[in-house]
Amino acid sequence: MNLWDLLLVARRRAPEAPALQLADGSAWSHDALLAAAERRAAALRERGVGAGDRLALWAGNRVETVLAYLAAARLGAVAVPLNLAYRRQELAHVLADAAPRLLLSEREQLPVLEEVGRDALGGVPLVLVEELAAAARETAAPPPPARAAGDDLALLLYTSGTTGRSKGAMLTHNNLLATVTGLLAAWAWEPGDRLLLTLPIFHTHGLVVGLFTALAAGASVRLRRRFEAEAVVAELAAGEATLFFGVPTMYVRLVDLLRRDGGGERLRPVRLFCCGSAPLAPETFAGFRAATGHAILERYGMTETGMLLGNPYAGERLPGTVGTPLPGVSLRIVDRDGRHLPAGAEGELLVRGSNVFAGYWRDTAKTAESFAVDDGGQRWFRTGDLGRLDGASGHVTLLGRGRELILRGGFNVYPREVEEVLEAFPGVREVAVVGRPHAEWGEVPVAFVVAEGALDEAALLAHCAAELARFKLPVAFRYVETLPRNALGKVQKHLLPS
Ligand code: AMP
Repeated sequence: MNLWDLLLVARRRAPEAPALQLADGSAWSHDALLAAAERRAAALRERGVGAGDRLALWAGNRVETVLAYLAAARLGAVAVPLNLAYRRQELAHVLADAAPRLLLSEREQLPVLEEVGRDALGGVPLVLVEELAAAARETAAPPPPARAAGDDLALLLYTSGTTGRSKGAMLTHNNLLATVTGLLAAWAWEPGDRLLLTLPIFHTHGLVVGLFTALAAGASVRLRRRFEAEAVVAELAAGEATLFFGVPTMYVRLVDLLRRDGGGERLRPVRLFCCGSAPLAPETFAGFRAATGHAILERYGMTETGMLLGNPYAGERLPGTVGTPLPGVSLRIVDRDGRHLPAGAEGELLVRGSNVFAGYWRDTAKTAESFAVDDGGQRWFRTGDLGRLDGASGHVTLLGRGRELILRGGFNVYPREVEEVLEAFPGVREVAVVGRPHAEWGEVPVAFVVAEGALDEAALLAHCAAELARFKLPVAFRYVETLPRNALGKVQKHLLPS
């Protein structure tokens, strides 16, 4: 079975039900969407795109981008989404590495392309989605015959890469099906659901967790080009959506807005609010609950693995945790030497499941490094994330990326733990704790703080000292206007000043 097959099943259930609704009021049924994707597939085939070929996509949230993904699935081609924020270096790197048959882009990106220089494409032919749509209207070719197998590649997703060059994570159709079907069950998706999606569909969160899962549910997606807090509140308050997926920065803005303007109770009819891609501060969870009555469902996943853990749909959602493994996912927490740790101990998260990717594109060394093999010969993916499992609730608390762990005089300082304490202090809006070299201790924690006005630093330090062991206390507070974040709201710690 492949992704296209899964969408055919959804179409059969309710062909005329809405699948996609755009901001301009236009709507596509499941039937219309898949029929249009067939025509795009035929037009792509005429341009030489076949099974196994990479198809790079550099276009925003719009119907043509959705159709391109579906057409790739139909053809057995491998979609390679490119982040819209990419500039010369990233564009040239990903295109050279993925070697796509062609690059599909849109008019909006042309000025950027002129700015970076077309030579960054390295000779990859450029086709605009507008041109493909026109060609699809004229193409008389029958739908292409190719059919991807479950083990064939569906997506080549370049990691957001906070260090070094981003790597292509190879996701097979089976990987996508595992994540999608796991979520259909875990979050009780129904055909009548409507997902308000403002996350970019060039990333797994918007694309797989949002778009593909909603379409596979026979539900509909209200696709928006970008997140605007006012527009989101208006749409949710008007009862237009049953689900909203966001990243923590979006929820911070929603809480700010609802605190200022009130009216959060109008969001009550929404069935589910989910959050992931970066840590959701317990204060944001509490603020959102106070404003709307909703407990945000925080979950955790990665480009390489799809969705891994989540708070319960039906049970209690615990702030500061990412919940328990989703259906089909196995989890282990290990120490530096790969030894299995008991509940309560801090270590690296290893995962297994049909959702886990096939490896890094053309990088067998990096792939081999990323998996650990246990005594029984089972392969476990090393997430690089640190966490702890609570014995009583079974919930996992994430403590940050392994390489961001701060070693102060031999003691482990988990940035996330310190950040949560700082975030709880009134007037602290956002915070990032990083390690900085220190002559005596090797490394020490430094806190970068976005404050809502002047902070009483002595009181802030006293607050930290009351909550945390001395060795975890930041040695300095540095005040900044904003934290550098990527498109998914993840703090880019390597971009903070040294
Ligand atoms: P990406 O591959 O861009 O989806 O990034 C995956 C990484 O985001 C994970 O390895 C985690 O470090 C981080 N991440 C995802 N979800 C969460 C979450 N709920 N809380 C904290 N970190 C998260």
